[in-house]
Amino acid sequence: MCERTVRQELLLPLGETSPAAARAWLQVAGCSAHVADLLEDATLLVSELVTNAVCHGGPPIVLAVDCDGRRLHVRVRDGSRAQPVPRSPAQDAENGRGFVLLDALSARWGVEQEVEGHAGKEVWFLLGHPGPVGPATT
Ligand SMILES: [Zn+2]
Repeated sequence: MCERTVRQELLLPLGETSPAAARAWLQVAGCSAHVADLLEDATLLVSELVTNAVCHGGPPIVLAVDCDGRRLHVRVRDGSRAQPVPRSPAQDAENGRGFVLLDALSARWGVEQEVEGHAGKEVWFLLGHPGPVGPATT
């Protein structure tokens, strides 16, 4: 976390308005000092991941963002342990798109189970400016 913006979390309702709520929140919660230019990509990805969580996951859906001064770290947690399955867009345009976008836009991404003692899974991604390669700060 950076000196300007502390880590923030949002509990999202499970419904069709969730992706819009997530997008709106990210515009405010994202660190405008360091990662303003990353927020557009972040918003697109968050929208996809929240949509997936609503359609295929379960409550609670929690969105969290962190800035480390150079990169934006975004997590979308939901209450379902079911692993999201990347599918090719040709097979399933709706569900495959999120992962294609993650590959294209994020520096790194992944899926974790039972993060910090929470039941369910978390899909996370890092958006960042190129810099020295070092140990992951996740
Ligand atoms: Zn920052």
